[in-house]
Amino acid sequence: MMIPCRKGCGACCISPSIASPLPGMLNGKPAGMRCIHLTEQNLCSLYGKPERPSFCLSYQATEEFCGSSRNMALKQLSDLEVMTAQ
Ligand code: SF4
Repeated sequence: MMIPCRKGCGACCISPSIASPLPGMLNGKPAGMRCIHLTEQNLCSLYGKPERPSFCLSYQATEEFCGSSRNMALKQLSDLEVMTAQ
């Protein structure tokens, strides 16, 4: 079920690996690494800009991925990463 994205979470910009190029991270990023565009406030510095990758725009917060807290989101997105890496 879709839920509103929690502002200042940023779990989906940290826990999962990203295989597609990001501006300044041409090989994407490994699981658990912060995207360089995630600010200290856990907001995307590319938000609203044309350089923000389309796959970031299409990510939808759901109960399944994001749970009920940021810590749950970090854990669940990491667990999912393990499952999809196998
Ligand atoms: S570009 Fe922005 S939305 Fe995409 S992973 Fe990086 S911080 Fe997150």
